[in-house]
Amino acid sequence: MSNLLFQDVTELKGVGPRLAENLQKLGIEKVQDLFFHLPLRYQDRTRVYPIGSTHHAQEVMIVGVVEHSQIIFKHRRMMIVTLSDASGFITLRFFHFSNAQQKSFSRGTRVSCFGEVRISNTNREMVHPEYRILQGDAPLQLSDTLTPIYPTTKGLQQRTLLRLVGEALKQLAALDDLIPAEIIQQYQQIELHQALRILHQPAPNISASDLLARSHPAQQRVIFEELLAHHLSLRKLREQRKKVSGIALKNQHKYFIQLRKSLPFKLTNAQLRVIDEINQDLQQAHPMNRLVQGDVGSGKTLVAAAAALDAIEAGFQVALMAPTEILAEQHFRSFSQWLQPLKLKVTHLSGKQKVADKRDALENIALGSSHLAVGTHALFQDDVQFQKLGLIIIDEQHRFGVHQRLALREKGKQPQQSFYPHQLVMTATPIPRTLAMTTYADMDYSVIDELPPGRTPVKTVVISNSRRADIVERINRVCANDGAQVYWVCTLIEESEALQCQNAEETWELLKEALPDLNIGLIHGRMKSDEKENIMSQFKAGQIQLLVATTVIEVGVDVPNASLMIIENAERLGLAQLHQLRGRVGRGSKASSCVLMYQTPLSQNARKRLEALRNSNDGFEIAQIDLQIRGPGEVFGTRQTGELQFKIANLVDDQQLLPQVQQAAQQLIDNYPDSVEALIQRWIKHAEEYASV
Ligand code: ADP
Ligand code: MG
Repeated sequence: MSNLLFQDVTELKGVGPRLAENLQKLGIEKVQDLFFHLPLRYQDRTRVYPIGSTHHAQEVMIVGVVEHSQIIFKHRRMMIVTLSDASGFITLRFFHFSNAQQKSFSRGTRVSCFGEVRISNTNREMVHPEYRILQGDAPLQLSDTLTPIYPTTKGLQQRTLLRLVGEALKQLAALDDLIPAEIIQQYQQIELHQALRILHQPAPNISASDLLARSHPAQQRVIFEELLAHHLSLRKLREQRKKVSGIALKNQHKYFIQLRKSLPFKLTNAQLRVIDEINQDLQQAHPMNRLVQGDVGSGKTLVAAAAALDAIEAGFQVALMAPTEILAEQHFRSFSQWLQPLKLKVTHLSGKQKVADKRDALENIALGSSHLAVGTHALFQDDVQFQKLGLIIIDEQHRFGVHQRLALREKGKQPQQSFYPHQLVMTATPIPRTLAMTTYADMDYSVIDELPPGRTPVKTVVISNSRRADIVERINRVCANDGAQVYWVCTLIEESEALQCQNAEETWELLKEALPDLNIGLIHGRMKSDEKENIMSQFKAGQIQLLVATTVIEVGVDVPNASLMIIENAERLGLAQLHQLRGRVGRGSKASSCVLMYQTPLSQNARKRLEALRNSNDGFEIAQIDLQIRGPGEVFGTRQTGELQFKIANLVDDQQLLPQVQQAAQQLIDNYPDSVEALIQRWIKHAEEYASV
């Protein structure tokens, strides 16, 4: 390891503390990191283009003779130089220039220029090109390779990066190819040295546009290696979890069997399968870390209940965390209903509770008289101490990076306990399986891939706001004739919660006027906890027929009798959010509808999105369409990939590599453990931090 590659960049000539600091901003600490700092794009200074053959927006080198040069005033002072070669003319335009520069462009002088060509009305032009005056017949200096343009940071010049990478490349022979030859061949990859040579010093015959499209085999090789390293680091985390001490929760499903008997329906096969997978985990002496994915309405809550009851039966407490107060309150009600007949105690912990209530709740949790505690993130504040916490359930988790998962594991470990609780995460976010297996490779993964029978798909219609009166009339009719219940969702894109709530209040007033015979409720994020609870329980009991709400009801809310949902200004929301909202209806046996109201004029994209929703009820399909319409950045940006940071790879663009990556990872783990460790060290800067949490 005494090799220069593994030493700090400061070992390179000319790298002082200032430069080292700038390099560090780019993630370059060791000399070998320079190899993996890859160019964003390339310039071609290897050849001279005939002026007349150049295209608009092309970055090229040209050589011509000065025909004419003058200073003009057009808005501002500028120097205009006309060059020609045998194929045509081009104008150079300079806004900043010295007298000496002006003089150097005398008629007949030969000049080489590098810059971007602009063409308007057949006139070619370059603005402030790099140029060189060619003395006499002196030969032109051309590059042997395409010129890489690196990502950089303020105060760090391309020239410097180019020089440093050049220095590092002299040591390339000492860099190990960590992927064994067998695997390189099997996946038709090229060797690392060859790939890095091509990427940093591409020969003139390589197409810069292939490189730009990331489709060149040299890039594919490096992307493959990076994905592999990430996958391996998550797999390693998962292995380490197995070494952490947990506690086996032995049980006979005594409570769960009783709960099942009391349910008015049969569990689906998918629910039963996932419950079984979870129970296998709970019986192990290392902590479970399982993600359960199931589309809206697939019945995740009961799966959570089954896990909770098994843990309680084994003599442990359970913490159930929900993303919103409304959902926490609803879970508190459902779990109370399910657990009371079993003589088990459920406690609600809320940020907005009265002091005395909170003290009671904390006491019950600390003494162990409470079996299950429900709440928002308030559950994991420092003042909450469980007597014996065996299982943490996190419901409807949409953004959940590896750091958060680890942090929560730490918080869940009670100071007086020697073991880590089991952890179960539920999400409705549809992530294609290969992606899930990569972003969540440190977790085990179950899918509830079946909806309870007897559900009629929600019928979705898309109509303009101008037909509001018709919709109000329809609400009146269905509530009066069919005993239906209805949600009216008010949206505003403004981040301000205050404005959203005000908007919902105004709509509520208007609807009360328009529908005097109906009992109309209002719910939004600024109401007190007990007010919200009161409104939701009235809606659940059928006393409120029409509920005006902000998007606070987006996740988890479950009132099976509700069969009509109106979403105002639906064009403002993303597809995933609309799908979640719509999931609040169609939960019972009644035929349900969702009306997506939009403000005209509707953009092309917005129309496509609303139509996609009208045509499909399937979360996976909708996610796929969302991906096509909005592009990967918005859909799977940092939001869903958590904090996974890639240098080069991109989980969405490079999706097609993932199955191979998973397969290769397994081969490495089985046959080349040394490579596994070395790959993680090379690519994952903070691998040790993960490992030590
Ligand atoms: P989600 O997966 O969206 O969290 P829920 O757990 O809220 O779904 O369940 C949606 C509705 O379906 C609830 O009213 C629940 O009681 C009901 N449900 C759950 N499982 C079944 C089943 N196997 N058969 C019929 N209804 C079910
Ligand atoms: Mg739910």
